[in-house]
Amino acid sequence: MLSKEYVSSEIIVPLIYRKYMKEQLDRLEELRNERIIYVTDLVSCSHKLKLRRLYPELSLRFEPGAVIGNLIHAGLEEILSEEGYQVEYPVERGFEVNGVEYILKGRVDAFHPEKKLVVEIKSSRDTQNKPHEHHVYQLQVYLNLLEVDKGILIYITPDGFLEYSVEREKINIKALIKTLVNDEIHPRWSWECRYCLFRRICSYAYVEK
Ligand code: SF4
Repeated sequence: MLSKEYVSSEIIVPLIYRKYMKEQLDRLEELRNERIIYVTDLVSCSHKLKLRRLYPELSLRFEPGAVIGNLIHAGLEEILSEEGYQVEYPVERGFEVNGVEYILKGRVDAFHPEKKLVVEIKSSRDTQNKPHEHHVYQLQVYLNLLEVDKGILIYITPDGFLEYSVEREKINIKALIKTLVNDEIHPRWSWECRYCLFRRICSYAYVEK
């Protein structure tokens, strides 16, 4: 129980809330745009994208875990920017699929233009079962889009730091976009439905036994 001497102040958390929610609200309209696909969509369930376009508000969240992840990103990005990395580096490319032009958008956490090195930052609760396949895949998509040969995937966890070097392998990005446009792979990973924000309204929802 709280002591009588402690009074809730409600000063700092609202600041975090406003900043964090503003970023999500600013993106809401774009989430409805059927011509825009994000790099993270390429490594996710195709039906999730369809549901997110129909119900974008359901993706709004203010969870401490996600906020902590953002703060970790911001902290490490500041260190990297002092070392010559360009942080939150935007990547955008057009692809034609089924006769329709789509814009693939993403932002790599850090890119060093001289070293030709891409860095993806992940925060996690622990060091178990790393690196995750979908994180490596996401980094591979960025390496392919930027035509860069080498990337680093770093995990920041309370247990420790993990850092993996990833060499570029050729990925058929157009084929991946096609799986989304045609809603062909739902879910893409066996664990995905468990954490999906749309599972209660999804007819494909699969729960591992
Ligand atoms: S519940 Fe599963 S199948 Fe449905 S959208 Fe989410 S991840 Fe995809």
